[in-house]
Amino acid sequence: MCDFNSKNLGRCLCIITGASKGFGRSLAQQVPHILQAGSRVLLVARSALLLEELKTELENLTVPRGLVVHCVAADLSTTEGVATTLQAATRGNVNDFNHVLVINNAASLGAISQFSSFTDPAEVNAYISFNISSALALTAGVLQAFPKRPNLRRTVVNVSSVFAHKPLPRWVLYCTAKAARDMMFKVLATEETDVKVLSYSPGPMDTEMQEEIFRKTGVSHDLLPCQKPGAKLLNLVLDSNFPSGAHVDFFDQ
Ligand code: NAP
Repeated sequence: MCDFNSKNLGRCLCIITGASKGFGRSLAQQVPHILQAGSRVLLVARSALLLEELKTELENLTVPRGLVVHCVAADLSTTEGVATTLQAATRGNVNDFNHVLVINNAASLGAISQFSSFTDPAEVNAYISFNISSALALTAGVLQAFPKRPNLRRTVVNVSSVFAHKPLPRWVLYCTAKAARDMMFKVLATEETDVKVLSYSPGPMDTEMQEEIFRKTGVSHDLLPCQKPGAKLLNLVLDSNFPSGAHVDFFDQ
């Protein structure tokens, strides 16, 4: 377990997309340690079984007492999946929480192929719909359901990548989506100044996405265990002294 210096996020509604595997799962395993009693964690992904296993694991933790964990088996590439997630997020009394934290982590790698091969708008739209639109619509819906009020902290995390800023040949889908998401969340930071917004690049991690990268490109990297970039992200959210809308990298000092 990582050291969070006895700080906590309060009585928090914490929504984590892509919680079934990889980085999202690791965040879900760490975040309960910094929540107060009465908090609720929403685990969102398509794999219901993996989410249920994780829920059991989290419910067996001794702290915090009274942690409620909900699984939302939803496909965020569809309108229905976003709606189901929003319904689950906004169920109950909005005054039960003094902090709402949305971690937009779910994403896909997509096809890795030359720019000139992307002639099918349907393929591009499907990628954009999941990787950009769903994060916008879900975050917007949560912010609408939890409007600004005294004593309510609102934090939005966008799990980003170094490829939000660095063009990589054949990675047009992934780079474009990450760049768009960073800008989208910068706009949010400018618009809603009470919302603390962070785009966080976790570095290369040992996950299924990296296995997919290896399969598709033959390129392998030195990989971090997810826990390390996860702990850094949660410490950033705890300390909250980054400028809202900032892009922070795991390797930044
Ligand atoms: P991963 O191992 O592929 O996991 C992706 C997660 O997203 C899974 O929980 C998956 O669950 C969920 N997901 C995928 N499609 C979904 C859909 N249509 N609807 C709902 N959930 C869906 O990826 P990861 O490596 O942990 O990546 C997590 C984040 O970190 C991503 O934003 C990625 O871009 C970013 N990142 C990763 C690395 C890296 O080296 N791994 C580096 C920089 C940034 P289901 O399959 O159960 O739906």
